[in-house]
Amino acid sequence: MSIQVKNIHKQFGDFTALDDISLDFPSGELVALLGPSGCGKTTLLRIIAGLEQADAGQVLLDGEDASSTHVRERQVGFVFQHYALFKHMTVFDNVAFGMRMKPRGQRPSEAKIRDKVHELLKLVQLDWLADRFPSQLSGGQRQRIALARALAVEPRVLLLDEPFGALDAKVRKELRRWLRKLHDELHITSIFVTHDQEEALEVADRVVLMDHGKVEQIGTPEEVYRHPATPFVYGFLGSVNLFHGRVDGESVRVGDDTLAHQTSDLAHGAEVVAFARPHELDIDTDPASTAGIAARINRILAFGVTARVELDGINGSTGQHFEVEITRQRVLDLGLTDGQDVRLVPSRLKVFEKDGATG
Ligand code: ATP
Repeated sequence: MSIQVKNIHKQFGDFTALDDISLDFPSGELVALLGPSGCGKTTLLRIIAGLEQADAGQVLLDGEDASSTHVRERQVGFVFQHYALFKHMTVFDNVAFGMRMKPRGQRPSEAKIRDKVHELLKLVQLDWLADRFPSQLSGGQRQRIALARALAVEPRVLLLDEPFGALDAKVRKELRRWLRKLHDELHITSIFVTHDQEEALEVADRVVLMDHGKVEQIGTPEEVYRHPATPFVYGFLGSVNLFHGRVDGESVRVGDDTLAHQTSDLAHGAEVVAFARPHELDIDTDPASTAGIAARINRILAFGVTARVELDGINGSTGQHFEVEITRQRVLDLGLTDGQDVRLVPSRLKVFEKDGATG
């Protein structure tokens, strides 16, 4: 089932939680809603589910306006961060619950329910836990059971709100891969909310980045990571180095230093912020060199194959901190040491004009 959200607006008193949101979720996709706490992800998910009313705008399910369709008829399955499985029911009864609650005419026979529950428990690879109670399960197992329970009513859409948020990092990682595999088998249109960028980039077909009730960018993980549309997206999707400067001909002037960059679409003198990820900066130790930004090495962390070099800006960038990721071998080849003055030279740079235009 495809989902379309059109010009959704949601206000809580004076506070605007969602500001004119329009999005398309094609049938069969796994989409992540990603953004910082409070940006409106859960509210949007609840509006799609029919658990919350928008003040303006529409939700279309397979092209049909869903506003008059009751939650129960939307054929939506939910999994929440703290999904309250019924404590007094076994895993089997928890998964069977939705089917047993169906109106008389639509309710499957107990034999059919039994087959379906076992099929679902096999799908989430927990068939052996059917007779346990929720208190006898690990957090990760509980969330897989919650997913089996959501799937039991054969939803056409799955909505997952931080489904792995309460679990420790290792279990989260395992479940993330598992969810991706499960989705590849079932192809149910799925939207999951997360504030963890790694989770979104690793699992989703497409990522919707939200901030302050607005959509900042939509794209494949590769698109949003490689080509962030706004400074917010750049900063949210990983470590980043910032250089504040002005456009000066074919370069960006940062204090006394110069960053070479194609800036033909920006006005001379425009105030800009240039972004480079740690792996997009190299270190130049030649004392005669004038390229890039002057900085002093503060600390070198070289435990594995890659090394992280932390630096403080000097000259034009005094007070700024930078982070460079290079191979440990390069640290040795260059003979880098703490306190050394070097220059940072970007291999790739993204320049945003201070008022929002990019170059
Ligand atoms: P988190 O990752 O912390 O769950 P979120 O992005 O899912 O955040 P929402 O839960 O959608 O954010 O909330 C968006 C904003 O709306 C928040 O500032 C929240 O305080 C506010 N909000 C949500 N529900 C209500 C409500 N019922 N009444 C008043 N304000 C609300």
